[in-house]
Amino acid sequence: MKDIDWKNYGLETQAIRAGQRRTHEDEHSLPIFATSSYVFKNAEEAALRFTGQKPGNIYSRFTNPTVNAFQERLALMEGGERCLAFASGMAAIFAVGMGLLKAGDHVVCSRGVFGNTVLLFQNYFGKFGVETDFVDLIDADAWEAAIKPNTRFLFLETPSNPLMEIADIGLLAKMAHKHGCLLIVDNCFCTPVLQKPFALGADIVIHSATKYIDGQGRCVGGAVIASNDLIEKSIYPYLRTGGATMSPFNAWVFLSGLETLAVRMKAHCDSAFELAKWLTQCPGVNKVHYPGLPTHPQHELALRQQTHFGGIVSFELQGGKDAAWKLIDATEMISITANLGDVKTTITHPATTTHGRLTPEVRKLAGIDDGLVRVSVGLENLEDIKGDLARGLSS
Ligand SMILES: *Cc1c(COP(=O)(O)O)cnc(C)c1O
Repeated sequence: MKDIDWKNYGLETQAIRAGQRRTHEDEHSLPIFATSSYVFKNAEEAALRFTGQKPGNIYSRFTNPTVNAFQERLALMEGGERCLAFASGMAAIFAVGMGLLKAGDHVVCSRGVFGNTVLLFQNYFGKFGVETDFVDLIDADAWEAAIKPNTRFLFLETPSNPLMEIADIGLLAKMAHKHGCLLIVDNCFCTPVLQKPFALGADIVIHSATKYIDGQGRCVGGAVIASNDLIEKSIYPYLRTGGATMSPFNAWVFLSGLETLAVRMKAHCDSAFELAKWLTQCPGVNKVHYPGLPTHPQHELALRQQTHFGGIVSFELQGGKDAAWKLIDATEMISITANLGDVKTTITHPATTTHGRLTPEVRKLAGIDDGLVRVSVGLENLEDIKGDLARGLSS
């Protein structure tokens, strides 16, 4: 196979071709290396590989060719230097904390991040003497006011779940660097097809590959992308020791997921945009949260920062929780599940599921209305998706 510098190719090409090293079998599709360990030619070679003086595989907790291919491909697509794959998105976030934080450090985190991320920082890193302050994603002044001399990094997701609020990555990156800390962006909702956080100044990008990267709801996985230096010094040593490794089978599924990511994302976004516009016309719908709508408070920012507006739409029903549950229960095709980023459309009631563990006051502060419904728009026929929702809207 020719040694091609995939940096010179477009994202769609990288997604399909980068990271593959063809073996002596001349296979066209990338194989799954189902092996836990690797064989050395002699004792000296074993010793050299263990010290890192000679490159090569050692043990699949930290070196596996299928996983390596996934890492190389995703790093290129994000425009980052190095990627490490993990067993889940949460394992990736945990690895960043384990690699970068020590007792006495401080973190500033968006209030609107994935629920388990909040619990991880608050309950687990908190237990080891790391303090986290949570701020409003879109309030730049609040971010700056929360930064302390011992702040190690700022952590956010944009767009946020489920309200689709958008943070200015470039502005927060500058702010982080001014104060000597790092900016970490969980890019799960956008994927590199819609948003490139490194190009805007972010230092670390996180993925839950479970969502759009798989795209068909099969496997759980995650990734951390960062500079060579950060990966070498802080993240890789933790992965090698901590062991929350991605399995070669899952890496193989995610590799094929990446191959269709660009076309899928565009189709998800087109349908979501149409659905959002349609929902604004529907009786009983008070408010539609979608960055593509000119009424969205950060519409201009979304236009600047993203190539498309995303595949998630949320909306508030006049009738509160009863109306939301009625709508959800009246669907016959759409899956009632909290997962997202699937070719199958999914629907969820945040106030009683993903955000159900919050107190009513905290939920209100987070802007989660009892009538709020979140839809991850899939790739079924759009008229069928509308029809399934219309049933519950008129009931
Ligand atoms: C799902 C999700 C995670 C966690 O990923 P898992 O693969 O489920 O561990 C993290 N961040 C965001 C934005 C998510 O949606």
